[in-house]
Formats: sequence, structure tokens, C-alpha cells
Amino acid sequence: MDNTDILIVGGGIAGICAAIEALSAGRRVALLDRDTPENFGGLARESFGGMFLVDTPEQRRQGFRDSPDLALADWLAFGSFDEQGGEDRWPRAWAETYVQRCRDDIGGWLRAGGIRYFPVPNWVERGLDTHGNSMPRFHMVWGTGHALAQNLIGRLQGHPQRQNLTLRFSHRVEALLTNEGRVTGVAGSHESDGSPFECEAGAVIVAAGGINGSIERVRRHWHSDWGQAPATLLNGSHRYADGRLHDAVAGLGGRLTHLDRMWNYAAGVHHPRPRKPDHGLSLVPPRSALWLNARGERIGPRPLVTGFDTRDLVTQICRQGGGHSWQLMNRRIALKELAVSGAEFNPSIRDRRLLAFLRDLLLGNRWLYDQMVGPCVDFVVADTLPELVERMNALNGDEAVDLAAVRGAVETYDAAIAHGTPFTDEQLQRIALLRQWKGDRIRTCKFQKILDPKAGPLIAVREFIVSRKSLGGIQTDLSSRVLDGTGMPIAGLYAAGEAAGFGGGGMHGLRALEGTFLGGCVLGGRIAGQDAAKNT
Ligand SMILES: Cc1cc2nc3c(=O)[nH]c(=O)nc-3n(C[C@H](O)[C@H](O)[C@H](O)COP(=O)(O)OP(=O)(O)OC[C@H]3O[C@@H](n4cnc5c(N)ncnc54)[C@H](O)[C@@H]3O)c2cc1C
Repeated sequence: MDNTDILIVGGGIAGICAAIEALSAGRRVALLDRDTPENFGGLARESFGGMFLVDTPEQRRQGFRDSPDLALADWLAFGSFDEQGGEDRWPRAWAETYVQRCRDDIGGWLRAGGIRYFPVPNWVERGLDTHGNSMPRFHMVWGTGHALAQNLIGRLQGHPQRQNLTLRFSHRVEALLTNEGRVTGVAGSHESDGSPFECEAGAVIVAAGGINGSIERVRRHWHSDWGQAPATLLNGSHRYADGRLHDAVAGLGGRLTHLDRMWNYAAGVHHPRPRKPDHGLSLVPPRSALWLNARGERIGPRPLVTGFDTRDLVTQICRQGGGHSWQLMNRRIALKELAVSGAEFNPSIRDRRLLAFLRDLLLGNRWLYDQMVGPCVDFVVADTLPELVERMNALNGDEAVDLAAVRGAVETYDAAIAHGTPFTDEQLQRIALLRQWKGDRIRTCKFQKILDPKAGPLIAVREFIVSRKSLGGIQTDLSSRVLDGTGMPIAGLYAAGEAAGFGGGGMHGLRALEGTFLGGCVLGGRIAGQDAAKNT
């Protein structure tokens, strides 16, 4: 392969969407990926498949009238953008573009290609000290991100201009080639034998993912709000999201921004069957569990509850020190509320088995319980609190967890449930608030005591911070063109998806309203493909 019109680095959904658009514009396209063909689709194929969409039929049917203006107000508040201009100029412009275009150019475009969403959108990231989603906007793809990736791959492979597409796997791109200031191709080596290759192109689109697959880089860019990074950071990103292409872009004068903005998760556990070093899973943290620090003290004064501000959970846990936290619950809570983000541990949704999905929702997810309790090293189980604390300490190989602290926390919480409404405990107040939305009510216990003898055994989960998404990245303008230090586009060079901080080098700001990642890949990839096609 020596020459093509448009060369795309990365076969995640950003790259795939770029390829679809470039083919539709009649261009010859080469898509190169380091990974093997089974992993075509990148992180999206492992993802949950939640997409942030605005003013959709699903929202309307549930009685919500959303609008781009409302969504933008939520986005800008939650993102806590620094400045009007400077490095946040392009991120803000991308945020505006996203909310304006997402209904038709993300949700509608996917729907036209056969994607279906759950009828009830989830209400995530409602905000805590800063305002978040003022209504449900997280539209779950029926079939998870796996179906999304498969659908887009099908759309690419079945494209009417398929003969103009060259797909190459096990191709590691290492450098960008230039001629008189214009990017003219890439160079790299084959994963299998290290032999070199080069490819010329009229334009190159970098869609090689973020930096969060490299724990070394995550540590290097650790945000100052989080103090010192914990000794253990689990890896929940792509094994090849190592920032190599970010370096290549920076080497040409391309601007990288906001690399310390990341979307990491607070409830990471070790994958029972790891496929990479420190492979982490991100639990959807059960709301009815008590969140304790490494010493067994309940984290507070404001108790930690998911659904409001994911970044705040990470910040609070890092402040506690100790390197990890614990969530304490019982079997009944685990069966109803335990979930793992992603396609792998949601087979009934991934495989679109409606009856199995409804059974798990109504009767409890026994399959997931068995996958985690036992096989996952971070789960410990016991019938009594003293036994549980003994096992927590044995797991960690120290005596850090204090039985008296755990007992005090549990008894105070259970007493607050027994006291009833109005609840004196803020966690219970939050659960009451969440349960007002049917999408949450069905997945949240109705004020469940921890020491309820009928709900046992007791379970403690040791949780680490898990690295996931890069909110910062390669700065791009609204045409996905890579910008240099003076704000001028670098000729022939584009970036999209997580590589570009989902657009503009950080379109989320400091926090994400969730579901904007997959959506950002679709939108940014499509724009990059269209613009590159126009200019080659
Ligand atoms: C478990 C899980 C659940 C998630 N759930 C959601 C969700 O519900 N909603 C949401 O919005 N987001 C979710 N995400 C995030 C979302 O999946 C990713 O942010 C998104 O898929 C990134 O897509 P991308 O195309 O930018 O990059 P990637 O998917 O990372 O693809 C990049 C590709 O580039 C290749 N590559 C890297 N370096 C090179 C190189 N040097 N040369 C050649 N190829 C290279 C890689 O092999 C890879 O195939 C989730 C992620 C995970 C892991």
C-alpha cells in the first residue's frame, strides 16, 4: 500500500465514522490499526453504549422537553470551563456544536442505520456542587456498545464504495510524514515482526484513542485536585491508548491541551480474567452500599453516592489516602444494584435477550453476582461484621480496617433507616431523590438496612481508581483540523474521537455529562472524514 487519498489511524468508532464519510465522498481510504481484526471497533465494542442525546423521541415519550440551549447550560456549568477564550475556546465551540447537532447527526444518523435505544433514558451526572444533567439524556443502545461497533463496522464493510477501502490490522503507526509543512502520510512498523512500512496520503486523520491506556501517562498528567496518584491505578482503557500519536502530532507543532482532565472512575476492581496488566473493571457503585475509606470509616461528611458527580467521587476518595476504598453491602443490595460498566458483563443487553434482561432487573442479577463474588479478588463475603472485617484486612494484608469504625457506620445508617422519613442521613435523602425517576427506582433498593438478617451475607468490595477516558487531547477546530501553537491548522492533518479530547482538545471541560464520549467519536469522526474529503 503506497498511496491513498485519506489515511485514518485507528479503527475505533471515530476512525470508522471518518472512513464511512470519506468513502461516501468518493475518496480512497486506508484505515490502519495496531490491533487484530477481532478487536476492530476499539473501546466502543467493550462499552456500555450510553449516548448523550438531546430532544429525542425517547425523552419526549417520557414527558421531558429538552433543548440544545438547556443542554448547553448544563454542559457548561458541569464542565467548569476556565476561560472564555484561550485553550477553552475550541472546547466550548465543540460543546455547542455537540448539543446542536447530536439529535440528528449522532442519534438520528445511527437510528437511520438501524441502531435502537432503550425506551427510558438514564438520568446520570445530576450534579452536586455544580449543576449537571437537568433531565435524563443517557440513551442506552439496545445491544450495548458492542452492537454499536458491529453496526458501524457493517456499515463500513457494506458501503457502496467498499472497493475504495483498504483495511490493515497489526500496523503500528509511529510517525507522521511531512513535505513542506503538509502532512503527507505515516510511517510505522508491523506488530508481528517489527518490519517497517510507509504510506502516503492526501490527508491523515488521527483517531488512535486517548492516553489513558498508559498508566505512566495517567500518572504524569494526574490532576492537581487529586493530590498524589494512588499506588494502584487500574487500567480500564485501551491497551494501545498510549499517546504515541499525541507525541507525533506535538512533534509537528500540533497543540495538546488539558491532558490532566480525565474521566476516571472511583469503583474499579480487578478483572477476574485480565487481558492486560492491572486490567480494571468499573463497577456502577451500588447506591445502597456504605462507602468507607481504607480504615473502614464512612467517607463524609457528605456520603458518597453515584449518579451525581463522578469526578467528585474520585476526588473525595483520593483525599482519604490509603490507596483504595471499600463499599459495604449485603447480597440483596448486590443482586439489585451491582452492575459493571460495559458490554462484557451485561450479556443479556449485549445479546438483546429481553426476557433475561427483565428477569435480572426484577429478580436480581444472579449471573453477575456469581461472576464477581468469588472470581473477583476484591470481593469478600462473611455472615457477621467481625468476620467480614477480618477478611477485609486479610485481603489487604494489614490491619487497617477498624471493626469499631465499620460497626459504628453500619449501625448509624441502619438506625437512620429505622427512624424513617424525613431521613436524617444524606445518603437516604439522595436515594429517595433518585427513586423518583423510574429509570433509577427499578435499579435501587428501597432503603435497605445493611445488617438485615434476611438480606445477607455481608459483602465488602475493595475499590481502586480505574483509568478510563482522556478528556484532553489534540486541539482541533470545528472541522476537526489539528491546530498548531498559533491556532493555525496544520495542512493535511485531522484528529477525532478520544485522541482529540472528543473535539477541540477537551470539549467536556473538567467534567462530562456522560454518554458524550461515544457521541463525540461519531460526530468528530464524521466531520473529520467529510472535511478531509473536501480538501483532498
Ligand atoms: C467498559 C467501557 C464502557 C464505556 N461506556 C461508555 C458509554 O456508555 N458511553 C460513552 O459515551 N462512552 C463509553 N466508553 C468510552 C468509549 O467507548 C470510548 O471513549 C470510545 O469508544 C473511544 O473511541 P475512539 O475511536 O476515539 O478510540 P478507541 O476506541 O480507543 O480506538 C482507537 C484505535 O486506535 C488504535 N491505535 C492506537 N494507537 C495506534 C497506533 N499507534 N497505530 C495504529 N493504531 C493505533 C487502537 O488499536 C484502537 O483500535 C466506555 C469505555 C469502556 C472501556
